[in-house]
Amino acid sequence: MTFSLLSAGAEHGAGTPAWAMLAYLVAGVFFILALRGLSSPATSRSGNRNGMIGMAIAVVTTLIMHGTNLIEIGIAIAIGAILGVTIARRIAMTAMPELVAGFHSLVGLAAVVVGLAAWLNPAAFGITDALGQINAVSRVELGLGIAIGAITFSGSVIAFLKLSGRMSGSPIMLPGRHIINLGTLGAILALIGLYTVSPQGGAGEGWMVIAVTILAFAIGFLLIIPIGGADMPVVVSMLNSYSGWAAAAMGFTLGNSAMIITGALVGSSGAILSYIMCRAMNRSFISVIAGGFGADAGAGGGAGGAREQRPYKQGSAEDAAYMLEQAEKVIIIPGYGMAVAQAQHALREMGDKLKEKGVEVKYAIHPVAGRMPGHMNVLLAEASVPYDEVFELEDINSEFAQCDVAFIIGANDVVNPAAKTDKSSPIYGMPVFDVDKAKQVFFIKRSMGGVGYAGVDNDVFYMNQTVMLLADAKKMVEEIVKSLD
Ligand code: NDP
Repeated sequence: MTFSLLSAGAEHGAGTPAWAMLAYLVAGVFFILALRGLSSPATSRSGNRNGMIGMAIAVVTTLIMHGTNLIEIGIAIAIGAILGVTIARRIAMTAMPELVAGFHSLVGLAAVVVGLAAWLNPAAFGITDALGQINAVSRVELGLGIAIGAITFSGSVIAFLKLSGRMSGSPIMLPGRHIINLGTLGAILALIGLYTVSPQGGAGEGWMVIAVTILAFAIGFLLIIPIGGADMPVVVSMLNSYSGWAAAAMGFTLGNSAMIITGALVGSSGAILSYIMCRAMNRSFISVIAGGFGADAGAGGGAGGAREQRPYKQGSAEDAAYMLEQAEKVIIIPGYGMAVAQAQHALREMGDKLKEKGVEVKYAIHPVAGRMPGHMNVLLAEASVPYDEVFELEDINSEFAQCDVAFIIGANDVVNPAAKTDKSSPIYGMPVFDVDKAKQVFFIKRSMGGVGYAGVDNDVFYMNQTVMLLADAKKMVEEIVKSLD
């Protein structure tokens, strides 16, 4: 009896011992250090380490505090760890965004399951009042936690299906969707309010919680299907933010301050990242959420459709090597195709060879290059490209006018001038690299038929100073390296 009262109290925070509060605070500091470290490739490893230390402290504290059955928890952790390690080892870098979306869905589902468990067995969670009913504040936390968790779950599942190509990346536009969405969101909030003030233990209670859960699952689905492929990076980071808020809401229900801190950190950092990405794509957050971007151009599928035949120049690895070694300054723009081909190591070798020959080499990274935020930074860091040679869009874009060669490797949308000039283009408004200002452009892709993520043609292919290098990126760069010897 003594134990169950103690543990119930501890579960809802009231009886959390001082040492545990302190341990959670220390874990929170490690999480903040982790975020700080992850803000730059140079410190990202230590950031990751701090995150792991913080999580270890939080988990061990929770296990000790609740006197949990270590065998059961150990089995659960072992199953999770085996699955996690297997997935992490098998997953291709290019499939990382969909993996992240998949993991977010699990956070959302966990929030729903914890919420429903607390609703079905409130005494065990220490959220009951003197009459043994769920108290009003916990009802709000429960309702919000379940709703945000369910939205995160179904939204992330759709994002996963779209990013992995199992579902078309094109926006699916239901007629009257804004009214349906606003109505459903309004109904969810009204039901949570009604549940909070309804007579304790009243007949409608169960019905309300189940209705909130079902409606929230539906709205997560409805919110993401109209969002086109080109906006998926923002969606992934937005769902990341939602998963944080879902965890924070559950932290309140469980009275666990570590969960509240972690959830708030994930929620706010995800929201800030979404804002930064919207700015990078020159889109307003509201227009992304309202969806429909790229509907006309078949965004995301790379379908492209019939394109006019225009003349272009094609070159060889020898041509490229010759021009590159003559150059004083070369700017390399990597994109999704570099990731697919895993050409980063060969590219670094090419950069090293050019530097030995006295050429200045810089790498230009677009905020949405590849298929996830930081995709290119991670690959270049993996290949040991020095951080001081890697530049963000706004820091390097003015240098194209003074560069001899812009070397585009597997990038496409992020160098497409239609984003600046063609109002009807699905990528209109996204800031892009001014490669048209470079004296010479080399453009590596496999064929003239392929398009970028947004599925549109690119005038850079047909510019006077552009030479197309049509081949797999890794093979082409390896041949250039050989020709540079
Ligand atoms: P794109 O998707 O626009 O273009 C990729 C290019 O790589 C294509 O030209 C393709 O042409 C080429 N390619 C593919 N495989 C190879 C290969 N093995 N060897 C050589 N070339 C290859 O890439 P960008 O990085 O320029 O743009 C990113 C796009 O993805 C943006 O539209 C962005 O909004 C979107 N996006 C970004 C996310 C993020 O968080 N960064 C997440 C989701 C979407 P070909 O097939 O002919 O070879």
